[in-house]
Amino acid sequence: MTRSIFEKIIDRQIPATIVYEDEMALAFRDINPVAPTHILVVPKKRINKLEDMTQEDSALIGHLCFVANTVAQKENLEGYRLVINNGEQAGQTVFHLHIHVIGGRPLSWPPG
Ligand code: AMP
Repeated sequence: MTRSIFEKIIDRQIPATIVYEDEMALAFRDINPVAPTHILVVPKKRINKLEDMTQEDSALIGHLCFVANTVAQKENLEGYRLVINNGEQAGQTVFHLHIHVIGGRPLSWPPG
């Protein structure tokens, strides 16, 4: 399996604006933001998409939500949206599971 862009960011092989890191997760600013705040939260463990997670990954995925809220609080977001684009039809382009943290402007519903 070729290394994902996000694994290269985790390993500091390519640069990113990192806003949070712990032993399980990394959060960094999206290179192509769709809102004033657009941060990606990624597990350090490579999981391509939700179909590839196992029950043992449940705590890890829950931890990603904890990290998402932590970075949202650091950004002083009053409200924010968490998005997982899972699969090509849902718009996933990087096959290393990630949560988008989007905020800093009013967000419409439903998404496109
Ligand atoms: P998705 O389309 O849900 O798979 O989201 C992938 C996201 O990764 C997109 O919002 C891209 O803008 C973002 N992205 C791709 N390459 C980089 C990079 N090198 N640094 C930061 N964000 C990136």
